[in-house]
Amino acid sequence: MCWDSHKCKCGQLYFIYVPKKLILEEAGGFGSEMIRAAGEIDERERKSGEIEVMKKSVKKIGAKFIDVRVNRVLRCKCGETFDPLSFLSKPNEETT
Ligand SMILES: [Zn+2]
Repeated sequence: MCWDSHKCKCGQLYFIYVPKKLILEEAGGFGSEMIRAAGEIDERERKSGEIEVMKKSVKKIGAKFIDVRVNRVLRCKCGETFDPLSFLSKPNEETT
Protein backbone atom coordinates (compact mmCIF):
# COMPACT_ATOMS: atom_id res chain seq x y z
CA MET A 1 0.00 0.00 0.00
CA CYS A 2 1.11 3.53 -0.59
CA TRP A 3 1.02 5.80 2.39
CA ASP A 4 2.19 9.28 2.91
CA SER A 5 2.12 11.22 6.12
CA HIS A 6 1.95 14.92 6.60
CA LYS A 7 2.21 17.04 9.69
CA CYS A 8 0.40 20.33 9.50
CA LYS A 9 1.82 23.55 10.93
CA CYS A 10 -0.80 23.35 13.67
CA GLY A 11 0.52 19.95 14.71
CA GLN A 12 -2.26 17.80 13.28
CA LEU A 13 -0.88 14.62 11.80
CA TYR A 14 -2.36 13.16 8.65
CA PHE A 15 -1.98 9.77 7.05
CA ILE A 16 -2.76 9.80 3.40
CA TYR A 17 -3.72 6.80 1.35
CA VAL A 18 -2.73 7.13 -2.28
CA PRO A 19 -3.92 4.41 -4.67
CA LYS A 20 -1.14 3.09 -6.91
CA LYS A 21 -3.23 3.69 -9.99
CA LEU A 22 -3.49 7.37 -9.16
CA ILE A 23 0.27 7.62 -8.64
CA LEU A 24 0.95 6.11 -12.05
CA GLU A 25 -1.62 8.35 -13.70
CA GLU A 26 -0.30 11.48 -12.05
CA ALA A 27 3.34 10.61 -12.61
CA GLY A 28 2.67 9.93 -16.26
CA GLY A 29 4.65 7.87 -18.71
CA PHE A 30 3.04 4.53 -17.82
CA GLY A 31 1.20 2.36 -20.30
CA SER A 32 -2.48 1.61 -19.91
CA GLU A 33 -1.60 -2.03 -19.12
CA MET A 34 0.43 -0.99 -16.09
CA ILE A 35 -2.21 1.45 -14.93
CA ARG A 36 -4.87 -1.25 -15.17
CA ALA A 37 -2.68 -3.68 -13.20
CA ALA A 38 -2.14 -1.04 -10.51
CA GLY A 39 -5.89 -0.49 -10.35
CA GLU A 40 -6.38 -4.20 -9.71
CA ILE A 41 -3.91 -4.10 -6.82
CA ASP A 42 -5.78 -1.11 -5.35
CA GLU A 43 -9.03 -3.00 -5.63
CA ARG A 44 -7.55 -6.02 -3.86
CA GLU A 45 -6.32 -3.82 -1.03
CA ARG A 46 -9.73 -2.25 -0.68
CA LYS A 47 -11.52 -5.61 -0.65
CA SER A 48 -9.08 -7.20 1.80
CA GLY A 49 -9.95 -4.51 4.33
CA GLU A 50 -6.36 -3.31 4.68
CA ILE A 51 -7.47 0.27 4.26
CA GLU A 52 -10.07 -0.03 7.00
CA VAL A 53 -7.48 -1.49 9.37
CA MET A 54 -5.13 1.38 8.63
CA LYS A 55 -7.92 3.89 9.11
CA LYS A 56 -8.60 2.53 12.60
CA SER A 57 -4.97 2.54 13.71
CA VAL A 58 -4.54 6.08 12.41
CA LYS A 59 -7.48 7.22 14.53
CA LYS A 60 -6.06 5.47 17.58
CA ILE A 61 -2.96 7.66 17.54
CA GLY A 62 -4.99 10.83 17.06
CA ALA A 63 -4.03 11.34 13.45
CA LYS A 64 -6.44 11.92 10.62
CA PHE A 65 -6.99 9.58 7.71
CA ILE A 66 -7.17 11.03 4.24
CA ASP A 67 -8.14 9.06 1.18
CA VAL A 68 -6.88 10.92 -1.86
CA ARG A 69 -9.72 9.50 -3.93
CA VAL A 70 -12.14 11.34 -1.65
CA ASN A 71 -10.07 14.37 -0.71
CA ARG A 72 -7.82 15.36 -3.55
CA VAL A 73 -6.52 18.29 -1.52
CA LEU A 74 -6.07 18.17 2.22
CA ARG A 75 -7.67 21.09 3.97
CA CYS A 76 -6.86 21.34 7.66
CA LYS A 77 -9.25 22.93 10.11
CA CYS A 78 -6.59 25.58 10.83
CA GLY A 79 -6.86 26.76 7.23
CA GLU A 80 -3.71 25.20 5.82
CA THR A 81 -3.96 23.26 2.58
CA PHE A 82 -1.64 20.53 1.37
CA ASP A 83 -1.49 18.65 -1.89
CA PRO A 84 -0.86 14.98 -1.02
CA LEU A 85 0.34 14.35 -4.54
CA SER A 86 2.88 17.15 -4.54
CA PHE A 87 5.65 14.57 -4.13
CA LEU A 88 4.83 13.43 -7.63
CA SER A 89 5.95 16.67 -9.20
CA LYS A 90 7.95 15.53 -12.13
CA PRO A 91 11.69 16.15 -11.72
CA ASN A 92 12.07 16.81 -15.43
CA GLU A 93 9.41 19.48 -15.34
CA GLU A 94 10.51 22.84 -16.63
CA THR A 95 11.37 25.26 -13.88
CA THR A 96 10.18 28.78 -14.29
ZN1 LIG B 1 -3.53 22.54 10.52
